[in-house]
Amino acid sequence: METNPTRMCELLVGLPAVNVLGVEDDQVGAPLVVHVESRRDQARCPGCDARGQRKDRSAVELVDLPAFGRPARLVWHKQRWSCPAASCAVGTWTVTDDAIAPPRQRLTDRAARWATRQVGKAGRPVAEIAHELSCDWHTVMGAVSAYGEALLAQDSARTTGVEALGLDETLFVRRGERHRKHWATSVVDVGGKGHEAKLVEILEGRTAKAASSWIDAQPEPWRAGIRWGTLDMSGPYRKAFNDSLGDATQVADPFHVVKHANSKIDECRRRVQTDTLGHRGRKDDPLYRCRRLLTKAHERLDEEGVAKLTGLLEAGDPKGEVRMCWHAKETVRSLYEITDPTLAATYLDELVADMADDDMPEEVRSLSGTLSRWRDQILAWHTAFVTNGPTESMNNLIKRIKRIGFGFRKFAHYRIRVLLYAGKPNWDLLATVTPR
Ligand SMILES: [Zn+2]
Repeated sequence: METNPTRMCELLVGLPAVNVLGVEDDQVGAPLVVHVESRRDQARCPGCDARGQRKDRSAVELVDLPAFGRPARLVWHKQRWSCPAASCAVGTWTVTDDAIAPPRQRLTDRAARWATRQVGKAGRPVAEIAHELSCDWHTVMGAVSAYGEALLAQDSARTTGVEALGLDETLFVRRGERHRKHWATSVVDVGGKGHEAKLVEILEGRTAKAASSWIDAQPEPWRAGIRWGTLDMSGPYRKAFNDSLGDATQVADPFHVVKHANSKIDECRRRVQTDTLGHRGRKDDPLYRCRRLLTKAHERLDEEGVAKLTGLLEAGDPKGEVRMCWHAKETVRSLYEITDPTLAATYLDELVADMADDDMPEEVRSLSGTLSRWRDQILAWHTAFVTNGPTESMNNLIKRIKRIGFGFRKFAHYRIRVLLYAGKPNWDLLATVTPR
């Protein structure tokens, strides 16, 4: 059993190449303070290799991993040297040792790696880690950013071989008195054969320009490897693919196509509601009561559900307009049961023509127009079979980070945390990187 506290601490600290100079343990509740010096000498001038003369020492206090169940600080006394050669431009230099802490870092190297893993991989809140280390939030976030960026830069394999690239919008934050929405764009490798889906990048904004500038900045061979671009039915992302990945085949994501059809049912339901009852939906109104049944997939309704939907539509939809919208949505859904591309094209073209009929409610005619404008992108799914589904699951991971880090103010903090969590970096590489 080790009884000499200095010696004991040295064993437990377990840092490479340090001498423990002493331990301060006098204040109850305060962190344990361990004073160390580097065993690395660095007595030779980095400029002229002359033997240096000892100057003073400067001390930096670093947040370290807890010891004996208590928060700890490592005070690193760094030797400063000066060059005796009059002709040398170096003057003075200070001992550096990245194994203790790289320059300008406020956590020890090992505490920083631990914090990065806890926040980045396990998705734990920064505040929780800061509490465990007994330091402030920014100190932890700074270390996570520095080591996290170094990891992402090192892990070049993470984003190679992307064949299908997905663009999708996510809400970043609501800010200001009016809770204005600030958007972000998820750039996702949606995966493929033997290829795992992952978040490649997250961009501020949801404009064509934001997406295009990023794509344009990528290496040419990487861009050339992308065969498909998956997207929701939004103009900006279509423009980004047109402008920056002109050779990639655009694929409209089936989920978003059906979602669009569902939004037309909602529009129609509200219009018919106002036309027939003269007010917006209230909880006893038949159309209001069936709003969820309407957007549910038909096969997910049981007999009781179908009977209820039919009854409510009979009561609230005298001209059968909402029913027609519902039918249109179900017909759009059936498009995805067809596997043959030629049959799918015929089916869609007939659908677009039928829905454009003057007898159709305006919402169905509008849906026809949208399907027609996105015809090629919709039908591309029947040959590519890639979807933004993985993008949606990425977005769920992103939502988790947003919940635990509620009130993100800086996009840069949001970006690094989301990329470490949903970007699936190779965490084995963390041990090999040093921030600069
Ligand atoms: Zn020198």
